Amino acid sequence: MSRAMDESQILASEPLTVSETLDDWVMVDSYVSSHALPTSSSSKMAVVKAGHGYSFSVSAGDRFRIVDLHGAQVVDFMAFVRSGSSLTKEKLSMAYTRYHLSGVPAAVGEHLYTTLDVPIFRITADSVKVHDMTFMSCNPSFYRKLGYPASHRSCSQNIAEAMAAWGLDEMDIRATDPLNLFQNTPNYTIKALGSSKPGDYVEMQALRDAVVAVSCCPYEGNGFNGGKVTDVGVVTGVKS
Ligand SMILES: [Zn+2]
Repeated sequence: MSRAMDESQILASEPLTVSETLDDWVMVDSYVSSHALPTSSSSKMAVVKAGHGYSFSVSAGDRFRIVDLHGAQVVDFMAFVRSGSSLTKEKLSMAYTRYHLSGVPAAVGEHLYTTLDVPIFRITADSVKVHDMTFMSCNPSFYRKLGYPASHRSCSQNIAEAMAAWGLDEMDIRATDPLNLFQNTPNYTIKALGSSKPGDYVEMQALRDAVVAVSCCPYEGNGFNGGKVTDVGVVTGVKS
């Protein structure tokens, strides 16, 4: 399930899916300046291309933000506990997190939990407060049953791609429940209930060494993701 990594590979997955168009970086610059992030010293933002995935390594104490750059964009979020340069079998668990939070998304100051019932992240800021802890990631069979072409991207494949260098495959990801950031689907209903606005974000502090994986959800049907999938941002090195 896990595979050792070279030290040079630990920090983040290769930025193959990170957008580098001028418009994206203008958006990043304006976001960073409007939120007064200390980019000159330590923080940096990776722009995850619309409908793609990304992974990055965090150490206990690190803070990071997941940013909805354009609004109404769901981000599937998973995390896998790391021991040095290898993954353990422990990972973020929505079942344990739902239990501790009585089924309600974590408020600022509350924690997300692992499959061993240990806090892995503390929520340190949240400009949205509406997230989903119940639905699975979209996946190839989800799209096949809806009649989409086999080439349509999915969150399970995106995260599998982002975690491939760590030895995980799509079946490992299908066996992992995501935290669906910015997804407004109360009571198991899937409707177009977009709530996040451009620049909205969730900030977390890692309490464990881990590898975080995100997928910019590529589902554009039924008004999901605002009917148009857009880039998201990952800011690492955030200072308290
Ligand atoms: Zn998805």
